[in-house]
Amino acid sequence: MPGTLSFDDLKSRVTDGTIDTVLVCLIDMQGRLMGKRFHAVNFVESSYKETHCCNYLLATDLEMATPDGYASTSWQAGYGDYVMKPDLGTIRLIPWLEGTAMVLCDVIDHHTHEPVPHSPRAVLKKQIARAEAMGLDVMMATELEFFLFEKSFDQIRKEGFRDLEPISGYNEDYHILQTTKEENVMRPIRNHLFAAGLPIENSKGEAEAGQEELNIRYDKALNCADHHTIAKHAIKEIAWQNGHAATFLPKWHQDRVGSSSHVHQSVWKDGEPLFYDKSDKLGMSELMKNYMAGLIAYSSDYTYFLAPYVNSYKRFAKGSFAPTKAVWSVDNRTASFRLCGDGTKSVRVECRIGGADMNPYLAQAAMLAAGLKGIEDKMELAPAAAGDAYVNEIAKDVPRTLNAAMDTLKNSAFLREAFGDDVVDHYTRAAEWEQEEFDRAVTDWEVARGFERA
Ligand code: ADP
Repeated sequence: MPGTLSFDDLKSRVTDGTIDTVLVCLIDMQGRLMGKRFHAVNFVESSYKETHCCNYLLATDLEMATPDGYASTSWQAGYGDYVMKPDLGTIRLIPWLEGTAMVLCDVIDHHTHEPVPHSPRAVLKKQIARAEAMGLDVMMATELEFFLFEKSFDQIRKEGFRDLEPISGYNEDYHILQTTKEENVMRPIRNHLFAAGLPIENSKGEAEAGQEELNIRYDKALNCADHHTIAKHAIKEIAWQNGHAATFLPKWHQDRVGSSSHVHQSVWKDGEPLFYDKSDKLGMSELMKNYMAGLIAYSSDYTYFLAPYVNSYKRFAKGSFAPTKAVWSVDNRTASFRLCGDGTKSVRVECRIGGADMNPYLAQAAMLAAGLKGIEDKMELAPAAAGDAYVNEIAKDVPRTLNAAMDTLKNSAFLREAFGDDVVDHYTRAAEWEQEEFDRAVTDWEVARGFERA
């Protein structure tokens, strides 16, 4: 892909003066890029080996608070440093910022020099290594849905996030006319990301006023998560550069459709699709059936990683295209797991539970762990559900609140085995803190409902 650079390419661009800044970034618990802006000369001379950051970056919330209760770090432990180790295979141009390149880092413990187990890239790498040890290459694609707004982030914040106006006035699902009016933002998003080495497939209008979707070609799971993270970041920056705001909040208004991030998954070996078996009616191999059985059986255990905030659960509603039932179905958008490309070599499963706010590393790792468990235990796939899954009375519900998903996460023997107790405890604490913060808040709804009438 154009835009991806070897370390030598970067060095020559620094020497000829076309690159003067390198963004050195880790991925935090929320799936955001955090890090430092290096002068490119310093980076190529020394900092390419490693740099440092405060270890609270992997123990904070969206607002950078420092909650207690994490075993990994605390005020008591003095909030020391982690090593940020640049992964030189991820160097790329950042064409929407002048003279700038970016590298993603793995997070390493200062003392043991081992990966920090709860760092999102390490969590995913561990499951990929498991798959590789079983002789499997995992390919994934995450769809990015979001809303564009007329005003900028700063204006919206100053106005108290009130009277939000999306960039368009009507449902623009697949609309060419309306999306033409948004090309001042969407065209640079597609083109800059492509020039940064992301295999962009397309963007389209989604099923609500101001809602957009960006599709990136499927890739190895780690690349997919890297691409998702960079794309999400770029969408916000490019929207900002054009005087607009982009939100990945799963539900910004109770009467508007929510934003999801569907995850397509398939397993390959030496370029051959192991999910495909042409003798099967739907083209599904036994391995695929086992994988899907694991995905479905453990879906409540890992829902937290697909829906990490209180707001994430506002998306799950009947008739909304966001699923409520843990069943699979053939090309049916009411089920949590949709079989796509049936009967062809691109046969794959799409998980529709994830919200636009998910951390793609954690979400992919959790689903991969469930699929691998299904393969290891040769789990049997139940028959496909048919019709409207929202009214399927025998199907298991997807957890409907953060509290419920936190409970299933905390008590998941499967995730404790796959991720390790320390990782599960870490993210359980993140979920608890999110709930505690919400429980303290007095919302607009409560005030309006009870101010006069209670
Ligand atoms: P949808 O109807 O859900 O939008 P698309 O046909 O647009 O489906 O594909 C969605 C995503 O699936 C794309 O990002 C594409 O790259 C990805 N995809 C296609 N084939 C595979 C596969 N075999 N494994 C994983 N993802 C795939």
